[in-house]
Amino acid sequence: MFILEINNISKAYGKIKALDNLSFNVPEGSVFGILGPNGSGKTTTLSIILDVLQADSGSYKWFGESPHAGLRKRIGSLLETPNLYHYLTAVQNLRITQSISGRGDDRDIEKVLKQVNLHERKNYRFSTYSLGMKQRLAIAAALLGDPKVLLLDEPTNGLDPVGIAEIRELIKSLAQSGHTIIMASHLLDEVEKVCDYVAILKQGKLIASGSVDSVLSDEDCLILSAAENRLIELMQGYKGISRVADTPEGVACFFDKGKVSAAEVNAFCFNNGIVLSQITMKKKKLEEKFFELTSTQND
Ligand code: ATP
Repeated sequence: MFILEINNISKAYGKIKALDNLSFNVPEGSVFGILGPNGSGKTTTLSIILDVLQADSGSYKWFGESPHAGLRKRIGSLLETPNLYHYLTAVQNLRITQSISGRGDDRDIEKVLKQVNLHERKNYRFSTYSLGMKQRLAIAAALLGDPKVLLLDEPTNGLDPVGIAEIRELIKSLAQSGHTIIMASHLLDEVEKVCDYVAILKQGKLIASGSVDSVLSDEDCLILSAAENRLIELMQGYKGISRVADTPEGVACFFDKGKVSAAEVNAFCFNNGIVLSQITMKKKKLEEKFFELTSTQND
């Protein structure tokens, strides 16, 4: 089942087309990444599905239901820097959030503090927290009332590597405990580590979506090294090769998925007088795929 279905949503701000016929589905229990360069429409998408902003056309469904007031309590969100008070403790801050949002009770505060691993520091003032702890407390606030879905906009923005790793582990553990997480992010490496599905946007249009593996796995790449300069030229003539690139790691040879055998390439080079010092199959990184998609596809 899909937790969220987005169907042909368009949104313009005056002449700026922020979203152009956008459709994608978020599977239940997934960690779903919405990716895109600056201005590609990620925040606009999140704002529309949270009913903060009205779409010009198109529709969406949460839990298979058209939007209605009761749905909002099943969705926790962290869209911007949270409004937490520096001079109050974690518990006091969560009580305020709770009284404003009407979500959860005192037991819930204890529970979310444990979920984000801040229980031992619950009576310390917010001002004494590291940035990573502050962000975890903000996520705790979004978890009040035990929503099924958590929407996060750039959850690791501004954090150092330790803080980023803490949020990564938190997202994974929330997913394991049955939450669906939808996050917009620029940090492709992070998305690859934490998400199992992605939608990639460019100028308001969807340019790829699906499981991270399926988005990445349209090509195989072999990295070859040899002492001879002729390697690139030789491989350009190899049957079935789609392209060859000279990279710092070696000569990258791209093939359609499943269409290459390392042993055959090795034998081909040897028979043509080149002894390879390296032959490795390389898994494409999401970052490479993202740049490939966002820089090569036109509107
Ligand atoms: P970023 O990664 O920079 O946050 P984004 O992918 O979240 O970007 P949006 O903030 O959704 O993208 O913006 C999409 C487009 O709509 C951009 O061209 C942006 O300048 C424009 N836009 C967003 N909000 C407004 C607004 N209130 N008025 C006018 N244009 C807007």
